[in-house]
Amino acid sequence: MEKSVGEVLTPLTAAKFDNSLVRDLPADPLTDNVPRQVRHAAFTPVMPTPVKAPALLAWSEDVASLLGLSAPTQGDTAILGGNALAEGMAPYAARYGGHQFGNWAGQLGDGRAITLGELITPNRRRFELQLKGAGRTPYSRTADGRAVLRSSVREFLCSEAMHHLGVPTTRALSLVGTGEEVWRDMFYDGNPATEPGAVVCRVAPTFIRFGNFEIFLAHKEPETAKRLADWVITTHYPHLADLQGESRYAAWFEEICHRTAMMVAHWMRVGFVHGVMNTDNMSILGLTIDYGPYGWLEGVDFDWTPNTTDAEGRRYAYGRQPAIAHWNLVRLANALTQVIEDPDALNQGLAAYERTFDTVAKDMLAAKLGLSGLAMPDDAAFVTRMADVLTQVETDFTIFFRELARVSTTADLDANIRNAPVLPALYAELSVAQHEALATWLGEWAARIRVEGRPAAERIAAMNAVNPKYVPRNYLAQQAIDALAAGDDSVLKRLMRMIRLPYDEQPEFEGLYARRPEWARHKAGCSALSCSS
Ligand code: AMP
Ligand code: MG
Repeated sequence: MEKSVGEVLTPLTAAKFDNSLVRDLPADPLTDNVPRQVRHAAFTPVMPTPVKAPALLAWSEDVASLLGLSAPTQGDTAILGGNALAEGMAPYAARYGGHQFGNWAGQLGDGRAITLGELITPNRRRFELQLKGAGRTPYSRTADGRAVLRSSVREFLCSEAMHHLGVPTTRALSLVGTGEEVWRDMFYDGNPATEPGAVVCRVAPTFIRFGNFEIFLAHKEPETAKRLADWVITTHYPHLADLQGESRYAAWFEEICHRTAMMVAHWMRVGFVHGVMNTDNMSILGLTIDYGPYGWLEGVDFDWTPNTTDAEGRRYAYGRQPAIAHWNLVRLANALTQVIEDPDALNQGLAAYERTFDTVAKDMLAAKLGLSGLAMPDDAAFVTRMADVLTQVETDFTIFFRELARVSTTADLDANIRNAPVLPALYAELSVAQHEALATWLGEWAARIRVEGRPAAERIAAMNAVNPKYVPRNYLAQQAIDALAAGDDSVLKRLMRMIRLPYDEQPEFEGLYARRPEWARHKAGCSALSCSS
């Protein structure tokens, strides 16, 4: 648990706030929440809309401890549901635009997320607290400003899971039920129904996205773009703040590119598919942000996406994520031509993205395989053959890599013995030829391991440290949602415990280390999801 050293914990109602964004950037002079096009402002001051009966459904001890917060009080729950403010909070909705599915979508903005303020922890770290589902803002367009319980549970659970997996991400402090119903057409088939509403309190140093810069380009507001860039750098990239002129922005863009590459490489390592990599869902800090129809790769399939809205184009499928992140960085680079005149400086950043991603993703794959690198002459072909073997029948990504560590590295093993540890990863029976192909590749892998000659115990420990055993698969999250909707929080609580040590053997959770059951293959929310949230 992250400790706030030597400091007394306080309730949220007594936390300290310093609202630097609100102080340093131009505000919308209007403060109503009526949908409209906002100009010449980075944000709109707007209040959360109170809810009927806020009830705390889940709380992250880890995030509370990071923030220096004590156990939640009723007063805290009122704040986290949007019914009250603590002293020092200055709520606002940010103005941003974005490219959605490859097209410029115009003004989007925080349509249902409202930032409460920037909390200063006892260790003097700064974290933005943001309520998602807090009611209408000028950016709500035709929607209701609310969020349903199912998507809120999914964001709360997954962002914490990603943190413990070592993936850069926003966090979540709390999940509050609103006591209100929300209308949603979950399957987009003309059959809307009511669902319980909820509010998640998300936490990150800042929730600024690529889209916050794009909107200023679209509306020719370069002065505000520059002010926002300067605020992001001084507040969140302070090590670059002393650089002068264009080199400051160039170094900053290069670091954004580097961080984004790291983030996507981690996604590929743990088999995470974001599902909606629009530029408004890309964090300026390189954090995984806006958990919607995301999913975990179960059967290895580079073309897989959990997002039914993207089923046709598969723009945001697992294997396309690295290229899409680059495409999104090009959109950001374009927006940053407002502060950087020299295109070469931006191209350097983009090149850094490719360099970092290629190196890091390769190193991570090597680590997953228990190898020190993948630089031998035959390694590229060896990896291609691995992909062939993993896709010949549906093979669970998480289980395969976790169990690979247990495959014998002795020479000349019978296929039955060689394949045995990874068989639980298979969703279908192997034919004799497929069985042979798997054993052949595992034999090659074993030979490759023998060449490196690393002590087995050390290699196995290293593999286990990068190949998670426990990920919150969609069907597990759905079980937690169903139970919670029926008033039982024990399933979610159990998953919240499971995700804290994803790389450890946890006998208590062994039953959750399993292939997705067949009943979950086509059940709504258990594998694929729509954007409805
Ligand atoms: P998303 O697809 O969740 O990233 O959202 C895209 C845009 O739609 C953002 O501007 C959101 O704030 C907005 N949005 C999504 N759902 C709602 C909602 N229920 N009410 C208001 N705005 C929403
Ligand atoms: Mg979004």
